[in-house]
Amino acid sequence: MAELSLAVNAVLNTQSARDSAAEEPTAALKVNLLGLNHQKLVSFFESIGEKKFRAAQVLKWIHQLGVIDFDAMTNISKGLREKLKRTATLELPEIIQQLDSKDGTRKFLIRESGGSVIETVYIPEGNRGTLCVSSQVGCALDCSFCMTGKQGFSRDLDAFEIIGQVWLAAKSFGQFGEDRPRKITNVVMMGMGEPLLNFDNVVDSMNIMMHDNAYGISKRRVTLSTSGVVPALDRLGEYTDCCLAISLHAANDELRNELVPINKKYPIAMLLESAQRYIENTPDNRRKITIEYTLIDHVNDRMEHAVELADLLRDVPVKINLIPFNPFNLSNYKRVSNNQLHRFRDYLIEQGYIVTVRTTRGDDIDAACGQLAGQVNDRTRRSERYKAKFEEEQAIKIITPEQ
Ligand code: SF4
Repeated sequence: MAELSLAVNAVLNTQSARDSAAEEPTAALKVNLLGLNHQKLVSFFESIGEKKFRAAQVLKWIHQLGVIDFDAMTNISKGLREKLKRTATLELPEIIQQLDSKDGTRKFLIRESGGSVIETVYIPEGNRGTLCVSSQVGCALDCSFCMTGKQGFSRDLDAFEIIGQVWLAAKSFGQFGEDRPRKITNVVMMGMGEPLLNFDNVVDSMNIMMHDNAYGISKRRVTLSTSGVVPALDRLGEYTDCCLAISLHAANDELRNELVPINKKYPIAMLLESAQRYIENTPDNRRKITIEYTLIDHVNDRMEHAVELADLLRDVPVKINLIPFNPFNLSNYKRVSNNQLHRFRDYLIEQGYIVTVRTTRGDDIDAACGQLAGQVNDRTRRSERYKAKFEEEQAIKIITPEQ
């Protein structure tokens, strides 16, 4: 918070110097209020000599009413509005493409500052509308079944760039304003990137999602999904009590090391213990951890894998979400067959688990994570290496039958 005050004071000092020169401060020097949670907005207003309650007013204007023009914030005095214009800004990322699927899925390609492109996907289902939000540009963790991982890591998203995805989606659905139907009922931090590697910005933006003066989404409807950054997961409960999903995908360390390489550092037992501690320490400690399990043909979809998974999770409060692998170029993995998917699911149900199967959505708009942004951002060294390796493997395959 000290950093925020210093930044604001610097802006004010710079401003007074510039006022005498009759110049406007540049946007880069102003504080972007879009990404400040309630507590940080309180500190911001205190730092400019204003009352704390302004924080709730401004939070409401931005995130409930969708107003990003200080002049339109009519319950704020003209003097304060002028001060805000000098010291602060409300800047959003930019939607460069919006794709609507026949099944109601909507995908946003969003350009962040610096030109990188990320994805946000909205998936309607019955009364529920889930927004899948990205936390990083690319990802460093390199899970073998993930398109985003193939792009390499570019940078963390700032809090305003994370909450900006929710703002832009809400705007596109006409959700802002009193008594408007709420289209976004759930948020999952499950888009591009590993959220726990961008801890502060993710926690800040989830707090805005859940705050009553902002989007007011229940903590039972905001989920953070991690592939297992255990030290950060151990700290998570100090800052939030959102729901938790674990990207597991394998029930033994040997296979998980291959699919989710961070497992070599934080193996399954360590991860499940940390996840259990998190859930036990939430105020309503009867919640279940969602286990995400991507089924890949002949890799982790055999019955012995189902048996191993059921045994592993026997004493952990979980529900299991099975996700048929969505093939993409640069991967030799294949989608699980429907028969095998049903056998796998039925076995887990017989063993007493709650199991859901993620149906493929938005096939006509490449809605799987990373597919479209990958095409736009596809310029990292890692991506080039993958391409070269993939093409080499394909060439070997073609040559082999003739030998
Ligand atoms: S699955 Fe998640 S953690 Fe793994 S590479 Fe993809 S985005 Fe990163």
